[in-house]
Amino acid sequence: MSKILEKRKLCIGLVRRLTDEVGSFTVQDIIFETGLPRSTVQDWVRRLLEEQQIDLVESASGRKPARYAFRLKPSLPYSACKRIFTTIDTAREIGEIYHNCSSEGAVMFCAFTHKKAEGVITSTRYEGLMLREKFRLGSTLQKKIDKPTGSSVVVERVDLCGDKVVQTLKAFGGPAHSLTETMKNAKGVLRVELEDKGSYTEGRIFTDPLEHLTIGIDDTDTEDAGATWALSLSLLDHLGESAEKISHKVVMLNPNIKYKTAGNAASFLEIAIDPTKYDEIINKSINFLRTTTLSENTAVTVLHGLKIPNELKKFANNVRAKEVKSSDALKTAKKCGIDVFEVTGKMGIIGAVASLAFFESNSEVLMDASASL
Ligand SMILES: [Zn+2]
Repeated sequence: MSKILEKRKLCIGLVRRLTDEVGSFTVQDIIFETGLPRSTVQDWVRRLLEEQQIDLVESASGRKPARYAFRLKPSLPYSACKRIFTTIDTAREIGEIYHNCSSEGAVMFCAFTHKKAEGVITSTRYEGLMLREKFRLGSTLQKKIDKPTGSSVVVERVDLCGDKVVQTLKAFGGPAHSLTETMKNAKGVLRVELEDKGSYTEGRIFTDPLEHLTIGIDDTDTEDAGATWALSLSLLDHLGESAEKISHKVVMLNPNIKYKTAGNAASFLEIAIDPTKYDEIINKSINFLRTTTLSENTAVTVLHGLKIPNELKKFANNVRAKEVKSSDALKTAKKCGIDVFEVTGKMGIIGAVASLAFFESNSEVLMDASASL
């Protein structure tokens, strides 16, 4: 560490300690503690004031010197909520809210209360620190909610207003803190409008309407090398800022077929994208896989939106139970509006189509090849 940085660290540590111990400090206190010349200490104090690391809490008057205090509140707002974004399935008038939080407690709390309230949330689940909530567009409420319905937070309605998604929330008591303080700092939130209604706070959260994509990937490895799960994870990373990452999962398929590699697992990714970027993102994905796969049979599939067609579930169950031809996979894909891309070959299409049926499955179903949808 350079001398200057070292001194700066020492200085901040000192003013922080003095503030903790006696509430404030003077220039003289620092001279006393460090033995440094007055001009140097005054310079430090001036710079810390400029950087908003400390505040002037009492101006000098008469013989009383000015008093300063270390700023306990960081100058950048800390937000518990890291990322909030939304996907809309316009054809079906449904959507999903994704809330990446730094608090597991908040995620559990919201999953529980939002579901319990009579709002537009039809299902909630959480995966690690990501809360996922499916909703119906508009409002399905018979009456407006003006008092708690046994829940302290209600997602009353979600609307598509012009080219923005607007979530209307009502929050009572402590949970209103997220509306007034933390959600507005989450990445993906365009703005939050607040109204104090006395007994509760009403908030409108504005986000972009993204499209949910499930990308199935199979057959990228050989008997001795490569792993589809790792390559698909690299692909997710490769997409960078062009897509919001939702999940990366592995699904076990039929372990008894002859052309499989190790355990016969396919992988899929869930991402949220600006629908106008679809071609760009798919081309980027195909090019990445073409240059990194070790197999002659790699295929990629894409399911648009939030509904898993029954036909697709049936096909996935078949894939788990018996040997299926790639022509059957293509037939299913066509019926279900699934895009299929042969990256290096045909065989991977079967697993890549089947994997799409599992994007809402829990770990028991994903890992157990004998489970059916
Ligand atoms: Zn949060």
